[in-house]
Amino acid sequence: MQTALADFVRDTPAGSEADAILRSCVHCGFCLPACPTYRLLGDELDSPRGRIYLMKQLLEGEPATARTQLHLDRCLTCRACESACPSGVQYGRLLEIGRELTEERVARPPIARLERYLLRKIFPRTPRVRALLGVAAAVRPLLPRRLKSRLPPPAQRPAPPAQPLAWPSARHARRVLLLSGCVQPALARDIDPAAAQVLDRIGISATRVPAAGCCGALAHHLTAHTEALEQLRHNVDALWPQVEAGAEAVAVTASACASMVGDYGRLLKDDARYAARAARISALARDISQVLSADAAALDAALAAVPAPADRQGGAVRVAFQAPCSLQHALRLSGVVEPLLVAAGFVLTPVVDGHTCCGSAGSYSLLQPQLAQQLLRAKVAALEAGAPDCIATANIGCLAHIRSGTALPVRHWIELLAARLGCG
Ligand code: SF4
Ligand code: SF4
Repeated sequence: MQTALADFVRDTPAGSEADAILRSCVHCGFCLPACPTYRLLGDELDSPRGRIYLMKQLLEGEPATARTQLHLDRCLTCRACESACPSGVQYGRLLEIGRELTEERVARPPIARLERYLLRKIFPRTPRVRALLGVAAAVRPLLPRRLKSRLPPPAQRPAPPAQPLAWPSARHARRVLLLSGCVQPALARDIDPAAAQVLDRIGISATRVPAAGCCGALAHHLTAHTEALEQLRHNVDALWPQVEAGAEAVAVTASACASMVGDYGRLLKDDARYAARAARISALARDISQVLSADAAALDAALAAVPAPADRQGGAVRVAFQAPCSLQHALRLSGVVEPLLVAAGFVLTPVVDGHTCCGSAGSYSLLQPQLAQQLLRAKVAALEAGAPDCIATANIGCLAHIRSGTALPVRHWIELLAARLGCG
């Protein structure tokens, strides 16, 4: 694609990067069938190619409008288009640049600004999420549908066991850090302890880093970059002493957060105080599936020591696995979790359209509830089609969103593995 960037951006680092990305797009349209919003809305401007064209216009000096903002807002940032693109167009990075320019030029209505502000202030803090969940449960009947749909229906909400899963003592020489994040400990407290127990069984001790907080993805995706960078710096400071002490990886059980931590080096590359440490932390960032698949032999040995899982009739437990977009399109870890579940004795049921977003997409399900609900219904139908006993996923946002649309149990896959190993 030919470009003629406007003076205001041509010689900036972001302009040069955007220019190279725009030029790599050949307008072939192979990405269109992969795009969930294009499939739902049928509008070229809600497709990757259409959005790329909108951003090209913006970068070439045409005024940003509410229409530009609308179509960029409707993007899930799922990056399915990147997986489908034969030319390697880095759509996600271009979108970051396009959204930032649009945000600077198009004022949002006060209510939308307030909504985004509250999301940024509440969700990155675990105690605030817990308080919100408590209040939401109490006033649930009074909540607007868009908020209600984000919560698991009371009948489906699993009662947590009286005792949370224990964190194993640090007994191994090999050590990884486990970044807990913000929303996950409030919504599903046992995921990280389950991961720590599984790691313990394969000879790795997991260390919590209580001083670390939100990975920064929420603020980053809401185009609050200064705020996001502060969260990144905070986490670099919190993680660094443990990295220096010899931790071999920064493991994360939420694939979206793993992807974000993997980006710390790029996002802080111009910060002289943080660039080197952020790059090191990014190099150590791993989704928990990467840590386990790298030690598949040790996992096999641990699994061999315990009986295979069975459903109530004594058959193998059937699992529908939902691969989050962050796992398959951002981290490019398609097909990594599934063999681990099969090796553990679970039977995977077929799931059509596995590359398509469930509609969670960070704060998308709150900001674009109609589209998010349509995607959720399609995803739940696809997951339930193979009559599984439960649904497994790899990201807390997807877990909470899918749980709100099905009566089946929805778990993080590492919890299934921990249960299979008899961790308690
Ligand atoms: S598939 Fe890639 S090159 Fe083709 S239109 Fe989409 S982004 Fe552009
Ligand atoms: S990131 Fe997802 S929703 Fe956005 S253009 Fe690409 S495929 Fe479509």
